[in-house]
Amino acid sequence: MADCIFCKIANGEISGGVVKKTPEFVAFRDIKPMAPTHVLVVPLAHVSAAREAKGEVGQRMLGGLLAFATQVATELGLDAGGYRIVTNTGRDGGQSVDHLHLHVLGGRAMGWPPG
Ligand code: 5GP
Ligand code: ZN
Repeated sequence: MADCIFCKIANGEISGGVVKKTPEFVAFRDIKPMAPTHVLVVPLAHVSAAREAKGEVGQRMLGGLLAFATQVATELGLDAGGYRIVTNTGRDGGQSVDHLHLHVLGGRAMGWPPG
């Protein structure tokens, strides 16, 4: 989608911080990391948020994205210490980029409840 920053990262128009890529998903370092490891995983196809991933195609995308995120976490060495995967959705969720993404955060203990 034109003018979507995560589409541009996904299609290679903007480079930087990519840690893993498949034909469906890409993982890249967050520009403003909130933990020692902070990676975003996104589908290459533009979907604005988790709530828009509907039907069979949406279910496959959400399942695949979560599985991909766990592979990335393993490859980044986060399994032993543990990590958090979160997706912010919409205004109250605190979403600031309207392209579906999971945050993978690790390398420090996470607080709960989240802010
Ligand atoms: P959200 O607030 O939508 O849950 O998360 C968006 C995330 O994208 C934020 O953590 C923000 O730091 C990150 N971000 C915003 N613009 C860019 C960018 O151009 N490159 C990268 N790598 N991350 C970005
Ligand atoms: Zn996009």
